[in-house]
Amino acid sequence: MRNIDHFIVGGSPAQTERFHDVWNPSTGEVQARVPLAGAALLEQAVEAAKKVQPEWAATNPQKRARVMFRFKELIEANMQELAELLASEHGKVVDDAKGDVQRGLEVIEFACGIPHVLKGDYSIGAGTGIDVYSMRQPLGIGAGITPFNFPAMIPMWMFGMAIAAGNAFILKPSERDPSVPVRLAELFVEAGAPEGLLQVVHGDKEMVDAILDHQDIAAVSFVGSSDIAHYVYKRGVAAGKRVQAMGGAKNHGIVMPDADLDQVVNDLSGAAFGSAGERCMALPVVVPVGEETAERLREKLIPAIEGLRIGVSNDPEAHYGPVVTPEHKARIEQWIATAESEGGELVIDGRGYSLQGHEKGFFVGPTLIDHVTTKMSSYQEEIFGPVLQIVRAKDFEEAVRMPSEHQYGNGVAIFTRNGHAAREFASRVNVGMVGINVPIPVPVAYHSFGGWKRSAFGDTNQYGMEGLKFWTKVKTITQRWPDGSVDDGNAFLIPTL
Ligand code: NAD
Repeated sequence: MRNIDHFIVGGSPAQTERFHDVWNPSTGEVQARVPLAGAALLEQAVEAAKKVQPEWAATNPQKRARVMFRFKELIEANMQELAELLASEHGKVVDDAKGDVQRGLEVIEFACGIPHVLKGDYSIGAGTGIDVYSMRQPLGIGAGITPFNFPAMIPMWMFGMAIAAGNAFILKPSERDPSVPVRLAELFVEAGAPEGLLQVVHGDKEMVDAILDHQDIAAVSFVGSSDIAHYVYKRGVAAGKRVQAMGGAKNHGIVMPDADLDQVVNDLSGAAFGSAGERCMALPVVVPVGEETAERLREKLIPAIEGLRIGVSNDPEAHYGPVVTPEHKARIEQWIATAESEGGELVIDGRGYSLQGHEKGFFVGPTLIDHVTTKMSSYQEEIFGPVLQIVRAKDFEEAVRMPSEHQYGNGVAIFTRNGHAAREFASRVNVGMVGINVPIPVPVAYHSFGGWKRSAFGDTNQYGMEGLKFWTKVKTITQRWPDGSVDDGNAFLIPTL
């Protein structure tokens, strides 16, 4: 049995920890195990980070950027290996795993520009002989706690910006697919980063709590499900930290009567079923506007969904692979049963799906449920599987209201040829990221990522300039250099201009 080790300076102490099984979801077999550590191991990592961070922060930004450049090259050179490793633990198909790595790499590319984005502001002559300037300084040690569904992209969202800005970083990846994060940390050292700058500690709640309570960790970035995001936010803030905590999602795709339905069906097939629906920016709810649109859409969706190919993660022809664990497969199937018992019409039922030759794999067939209503729990909660629900809206107003009133507000998309409707929708909808004829509107690396409502706690988005803000603090200096020729006297009143 392969053991996946922590990646910390000094190596792991004798393994007295608990362990967690890492599956190969395509075969349904346990392929490795990962230790679940706690406060003692974290302490070792923090001590190492403390030693290395001041010198890294004092390294000029251009030199820091060069490490990022070399890291980028190494990721590109190792793309195939990373994608295969990722797919073997997560279950997504290898080409999609490359996308997972690539979208993280794009944040590293942005971080290569750190000398430019770290430049401060300067106001000359803010008062007589007075200049004011501000600079962004690193926080010290940052930590990231990441979900299973993007084991390359989300860690890179966080540590790319944090480290380029001058921080040391401790990553606690998902225990379900921890190998790629460790591999990234190895490549980072190979790229020239000093040991201890990026460390990986494995664990579950015990490690998360140790991170949240540790007084030398200044900021925590979390991505995962909403209840845990909220918990992480509250506990981290109570310990005096800066916390951003991204949570779950239930993204709606609004289909207006004038939309190009063939294009919509293509977009929806990928956005609802790609990566077996295990994306926080998946589109698991489609909202056709008007009964006629709903009927036409349903007619086109059924053959498209029936034509999807499910396969093992290294099947190059497969549209999507297995889900991550047997528990998650059971949970998705339970949600399908709930949706039916609540009155949803099970048009295509993916339960009990078995792939010939891989009968033990965690496959869930594509599922289409029509006549879902906003009252149903299967609509209100996140399913996170290959399940598409049709919720019919009578008009545009109702279609704007649905995603706006949902507890989650991560992403939303509208499909239309009407610019006015699209513009109106984008400005009014109560959701953080909006696609107009774009099904998965994950912003590019030089913008930033963040949902609203229960999809994100805290006020700063991931990556881009928002990420830079999160991982730095502003220092503002007001200076004057009097030559002694003017006697200012004593100033008992607050200076005004
Ligand atoms: P999860 O909440 O189960 O786990 C996320 C992290 O929290 C993991 O590192 C895990 O070890 C840790 N954790 C688990 N239980 C904990 C507990 N009781 N206390 C403290 N920490 C705990 O999430 P997941 O299943 O790995 O990922 C899927 C979820 O993440 C979905 O809800 C998805 O929508 C969400 N997600 C959100 C975004 C976003 O940016 N909004 C992006 C990706 C995924």
